[in-house]
Amino acid sequence: MSDARLIGAGWKSISLIDVVDSVTFTVWLCGCNLSCPFCHNWKLAGNNPERCDFLDNRRLLEDVEASRGLIDFLHVTGGEPLVQYIELGKLLRTLKESYGIEVSLNTNLTLTSPLSRIIEEDLVDHLATDFKVPPDKMFGLSSLLAQKLWQKYEEGLSLVADHQLPLELRIPIAKFTTPELLGEYLRRVERSLSRLSKLVIVINPLLGEPATTPRDREWCSSHCNPSNDRLDEIAESVKKLGFEVKIKKWVLG
Ligand code: SF4
Repeated sequence: MSDARLIGAGWKSISLIDVVDSVTFTVWLCGCNLSCPFCHNWKLAGNNPERCDFLDNRRLLEDVEASRGLIDFLHVTGGEPLVQYIELGKLLRTLKESYGIEVSLNTNLTLTSPLSRIIEEDLVDHLATDFKVPPDKMFGLSSLLAQKLWQKYEEGLSLVADHQLPLELRIPIAKFTTPELLGEYLRRVERSLSRLSKLVIVINPLLGEPATTPRDREWCSSHCNPSNDRLDEIAESVKKLGFEVKIKKWVLG
């Protein structure tokens, strides 16, 4: 039994949509160090008591036990899970030692010291991250802080590459995302991406209302819900840089 005291919003025993081509047991944790204006999990990110509470470890592990033969990964997402890295480490140790489960971590990659500890201890087998560019528009923080955290993001990617971990790189597309903008940032991390053992790039439209309730509805009404033509244009440009790409398209009713 794990003695982790994690604050989260719950879990789903079987999910087909959280990691590409994988079945996951997905756990949502609370808290985040970014403030992305398009975030639709902003209540989790902000530790809102309406959604967030201590997770019941006993029930969580019972559900893991019941699902373990049916899943590829236990996927931890949020919020930003590494905000609670000490308690998260306790849970992941239990999952590895007592259940032999493969772990996937969805992280914004900016908390590099906690990330390094979790990776060095071999507690994670797969990572997923958003490639949010430009950071001063997407992180919801001051330009200065966003630039500093972008440096951390680049370090985080390099760390993942150093350890040869598979990565799902999700690129959120806003109306202002252009092939030129994306290409500029992808070239900055090209070396890390080329060293990964496995890379899946997913083009994700930023969805606003009515599909989601974003943190900043005004920001999203200007910048979310890009056209499918824009998604195709971006996907083509990423392919031209030599990457394989998947596109998520949504039909908005
Ligand atoms: S989108 Fe992710 S990184 Fe950004 S505020 Fe929400 S939970 Fe945090």
